[in-house]
Formats: sequence, structure tokens, C-alpha cells
Amino acid sequence: MFNKITFFILLSLRHQNVLKMSLVVVGSMAFDAIETPFGKSDKIVGGAATYIAWSASNFKKPVKQISVVGGDFPREELDALTDRGVVLDGVQIKKNEKSFFWSGKYHMDMNTRDTLDTQLNVLADFDPVVPEGYQDCEFLMLGNLVPAVQLSVIRQMKTRPRLIAMDTMNFWMETATEDLEKVIREVDVLLVNDSEARELSGQYSLVRAAKEILKMGPKFLIIKKGEHGALLFHEDQVFFAPALPLEEVFDPTGAGDTFAGGFIGHIARTGDISYNNMKSGIIVGSAMASFCVEKFGTQRLREINRVDIDERVQEFVQLVNFDITLI
Ligand code: AMP
Repeated sequence: MFNKITFFILLSLRHQNVLKMSLVVVGSMAFDAIETPFGKSDKIVGGAATYIAWSASNFKKPVKQISVVGGDFPREELDALTDRGVVLDGVQIKKNEKSFFWSGKYHMDMNTRDTLDTQLNVLADFDPVVPEGYQDCEFLMLGNLVPAVQLSVIRQMKTRPRLIAMDTMNFWMETATEDLEKVIREVDVLLVNDSEARELSGQYSLVRAAKEILKMGPKFLIIKKGEHGALLFHEDQVFFAPALPLEEVFDPTGAGDTFAGGFIGHIARTGDISYNNMKSGIIVGSAMASFCVEKFGTQRLREINRVDIDERVQEFVQLVNFDITLI
């Protein structure tokens, strides 16, 4: 009897949003230097967690961030995130060290790129501490970061989050394979791009690659294909979300993280972790990514609002909406 009553009270508190369940984001915060066939940027602020936070905060607030930066990271960038509804209690500032630095060069297709330089700096010995105030985490988004750090955050959660999603990169497949496999075993949703899915599975066919990766632990796999959209795999099912054909792509950096932010933001806002809702999640992710590439760095993400996002999502609906009758 008592259990039943407690259950209904919890349910109603949950409904009234009294028990606030939060979204925690882990990932790099960085300086990036980007070269495209059309232009070059000097050090600009980037990093996986930065893009995820700008994107996810359109759907769910607060976003509770875990990361590390050096004393060189601009204070106004942190303040802008705070103003946006991002909690930075879990972001360590190492005053006498340098922030993570990454530089990349895009090929003519703007879809593929080479990493020119990765300087771990503060990331090299980052030991994350999950603040007590983050223990209400219901949705955990492990953005691209050292796999051992991603694992440490999972281990520090006193109660397992309802959903753990993870993004990673070929860099970690090559430098931290064992740790990476350990984290992958623990997550519900894995997000990788097509070349990373091939590298991780040793399979060229993405369908075969997905089968292999789903055996490694995750129940859901999202394969991002840049301007060719994204695939969602679950058991024997597959769903495809297109990318919006854009006249001009300015800078694709952070598109994958922005996608991840839109995806997890949508899931956290709706609280629905079904396969069906994940389909909507990858449409939202694709819509967010389409904004990201329109300007350098996080610039475009700072300008847009919910009206812009709703309109963009409708463009996606129109893009794939057709009637067909076969006689
Ligand atoms: P994306 O274009 O979505 O793959 O993400 C690009 C962002 O990832 C950039 O802002 C980089 O700072 C960040 N990044 C690049 N390499 C790494 C890495 N090895 N670990 C964590 N973040 C990285």
C-alpha cells in the first residue's frame, strides 16, 4: 500500500516538474583553427561540449556541463553559456594551463576533413569531478572526449541515468581503443560518423557495421553521414533522416556535436526514450546541424530561436513528404 502511494506521489511530483531531472553534458571545450577551401579562421572557440550545450539548451534547461579549460579560455564565452542556462559547476578552470586545441582542414566537398593538429593540453590529465548537484542526471550526453573521462563520469553517477548517449571520434579509436570499448559497452546510444563506424567495426557496409557495433553494447546506433543525412539503427530496424540541401556551407565544424545536442535535447525535453521518438530526435538533430554549418564556429547557434528551429524542422518534413500509389 505504502509503495503504491509513494509511487503515485512521485509520479505526480514528476509530472509537476518538482523532481527536476536534468541533462548532463560532458565533452571538450576548445580552441579550433579551421581551414576550408573558401576561408580560414584563427583560433576560435569550439569543442564538443560547447556545441552540444548551445544546441541542447534550445530544448532543455539547465544543461549541466562537465569539462576543463585553461586560463586562456575567454571569460565572456563562459558567461554567455551561463546566460544561456548552462550550469558550469562541473567545468574546471586550470589557470596556468592551456585549453585543448584542435585544427582541421576541409576537403573541397566540405564533408570530409583532415585533422592537422590535436593538442590535448588541459585534457591530458583531466580528472572530472561530478558535482553533487548533477546527481539528478536523467540524461547523460557523453560528448567527444578522452574515453577514460567519459567512463569516470558514468562511474561517479550514484544512480545510473535513464539514458546514456555517447559521441566519439577516430582519434580515440586510434589512441585509446581499450578504454573506448569499455565506455561503448556501457551506453544506450552511440553516435559516430560513417568513416568512424567503418573503422570501429572493420566493415565497409554500414548495415554490417551497425550490426557489429550493436553487439558491442549500445541498443541504438546513429551513423552521421554529413551532407548525406543520418541513419538510426535499433535491433533489425533502420530509419533515415536527410540533411537539408543548403546553397552554402560555410564551416561544418561542430555539426556532429550540434546534431548530438539537438538529439539529446529533444529526448530530454520529451522524456520519451522510445525508438519512435529517437526518429524525431534525429530530425531535430539534423535541423540543428543545418544551422551550425551556416557560419563559422558557434555564431549561428547563438542567433537562432525556437521559431527558426520550428520552421527548419518543417522544411525537413516537407523534404521527405510525398504521396505514392502503385497500381
Ligand atoms: P565535429 O565537427 O562535430 O566532429 O566536432 C568538432 C569539434 O570537436 C571541434 O570543436 C573540436 O574542438 C572538437 N574535437 C576535435 N578533436 C577532438 C578530440 N580528439 N576530442 C575531443 N574533442 C575534439
